[in-house]
Amino acid sequence: MASPPVDQSGWRADFPILQRKIHDMPLIYLDSAASTQKPQRVLDAMTSFYAQHNSNVHRGIHTLSEEATTAYEAARDKVTSFINASSRQEVVFTRNTTESINLLAQSWARANLRGGDVVLLSEMEHHANLVPWQLLRQQIGIELRFIPVTDEGRLELEALDALLDERVKLLSVAHVSNVLGTINPVELLIARAHGVGARVHLDAAQSVPHMPVDVQALNVDFLSFSGHKMCGPTGIGIFWGRKALLNAMPPFLGGGDMISVVTLDEVTWADLPHKFEAGTPSIAEAIGLGAAIDYLSEIGMATIHGHEQALTAYALEACAQIDGLQLLGPSSANERAGLLTFTLDGVHPHDIAATLDERAIAIRAGHHCAQPLHARFGIPASARASFYLYNEAWEIDALVEGLEEAQRLYAF
Ligand code: PMP
Repeated sequence: MASPPVDQSGWRADFPILQRKIHDMPLIYLDSAASTQKPQRVLDAMTSFYAQHNSNVHRGIHTLSEEATTAYEAARDKVTSFINASSRQEVVFTRNTTESINLLAQSWARANLRGGDVVLLSEMEHHANLVPWQLLRQQIGIELRFIPVTDEGRLELEALDALLDERVKLLSVAHVSNVLGTINPVELLIARAHGVGARVHLDAAQSVPHMPVDVQALNVDFLSFSGHKMCGPTGIGIFWGRKALLNAMPPFLGGGDMISVVTLDEVTWADLPHKFEAGTPSIAEAIGLGAAIDYLSEIGMATIHGHEQALTAYALEACAQIDGLQLLGPSSANERAGLLTFTLDGVHPHDIAATLDERAIAIRAGHHCAQPLHARFGIPASARASFYLYNEAWEIDALVEGLEEAQRLYAF
């Protein structure tokens, strides 16, 4: 067995919920790919906003409103430097990754694509990067193509020659798969798609929280992610796009805050990014996300990625010892992010999750919003353990013991 990674970092202590006991045992939270826990300073930032500065933004000429606006816009600056966007005007606050991708489909794609144009996706997409395109297909008759997934859970790059032609106007793929853990070779994909004149969107819901992501270095066109998967609150997400592209796009939602001048007959739009932020935004949530970004940045995204890879290598080696455990995705830790999805022969994933819950271990069981990918592997459901900076090697030991217990109880 590999020696446990050095992880006496103390990060676990920053998260109040991880002091909780479930069934009188310390909580082992291995469901961060669904949503992460929040450090105390994120909770403090949100409480302090509501206790001291609460007001609407961009509207009032009074002290509280100015303070709220300053804090909300400061959060945008933090996101801007976190992903190295070239301008704060490129950073649009949404509710989550799902809303960001719907914005892309209903604004950019609806304005720029016609019937017969192609959007290229992959077989490993989360429903958030599939259903908005299926809706657009119903609405304007685009064609969808899919990059196949190999048995090892990688994108089948050889298929690109046949899939990528001048009819492809957009490539939209997951940077990291939420099921397979695969880190996709996005530099190569971006270059190939640009080679046929297509734009590229990355679903970065599982990458931005876990590793350094630099939109300028990637040379990508659009990027989406969610605050709640990176130590921030729910209700806040990011849609990033190149300024020239965003400027040329029509608004997605209409209402207050996104306009410049409105008469009964006409309307003109506000400047970026406000053109895409209709109505009262998620103010406390943006501020909470800003605090989360400060927290992650102080630790360093490369450090977080290294910690998760060490945990993943340890977990992969431990799981390889369990007879009947079938892992989905690549078997080497340096090709994947910090999550393990698997099935156990003879044990339903829900029974795995219930057995682990008895031991205060939280994992996920089901299709993880990726039904076509499960169909590709011929399984209805799987179990997923996912890691973040607050996880430690002893929690993986407990996971392995719990899986062995599930086998004893259920396998036939
Ligand atoms: N894409 C991927 C790869 C995801 O893992 C998730 C969340 N499971 C989403 C999109 C959707 O994120 P949200 O529910 O925050 O919109």
